[in-house]
Amino acid sequence: MILVLLGPPGAGKGTQGEKLAEQLGIPKVATGDVLRAAVREQTPLGLAAKAAMDRGDLVPDDVILGIMKEALDSPAAARGAILDGVVRTVPQAEGLSRVLGELGRPLDAVLLFEIQDEELVGRLSGRTVCEKCQTPYAGLEPGTTCAKCGGTLVRRKDDEPEAVRNRLKNYHAQTAPVIGWYERTGGPLRRVDALGSMEDVLARARKALGL
Ligand code: AMP
Repeated sequence: MILVLLGPPGAGKGTQGEKLAEQLGIPKVATGDVLRAAVREQTPLGLAAKAAMDRGDLVPDDVILGIMKEALDSPAAARGAILDGVVRTVPQAEGLSRVLGELGRPLDAVLLFEIQDEELVGRLSGRTVCEKCQTPYAGLEPGTTCAKCGGTLVRRKDDEPEAVRNRLKNYHAQTAPVIGWYERTGGPLRRVDALGSMEDVLARARKALGL
């Protein structure tokens, strides 16, 4: 199953993607995680992407399409993949459609996590993530130990208020048009109300997928 998770930053795509990946037994591919690892390891990709990421701006489509193609083409994704944070622009949606066509694989669903901006600002500015395994936490201070892997929780630079505002602005300008693109092209768009507990949202997501 190839699944795309769409929605604004802070809507819970990462958390829900993790759960769905576990339950469906397929990997979650998060371009944000791939890019953050590249930044930490100071690879050419990381060095090129860092400034845009810190500001909360998108990195160029060709970079994202390269990461996405490599991930979908890998043996780990033979049974499918959950794409978290791709696609974020109409050219990325077109690129994904092209790549899947070349690989002869269908796009099974695009889950759109819907939530109001006011809710997101609070969520993101109160969020910390494990610097090692990337697990997000709500309401835990930077410096706390990650319950999952023992790493240290940090506040992402792009979860600072100014970067959050920029990410939301970019979402509405560059990512929201992807919704219309899937509607126009008959893509398998499924809407999920993303307000509520993790369990409730997961149940809605599973229902939307017919699971
Ligand atoms: P995320 O962890 O999904 O919030 O992504 C963190 C940052 O990585 C974003 O704010 C962008 O700078 C970059 N990024 C991740 N995925 C994409 C994408 N599909 N297109 C452009 N930039 C991306």
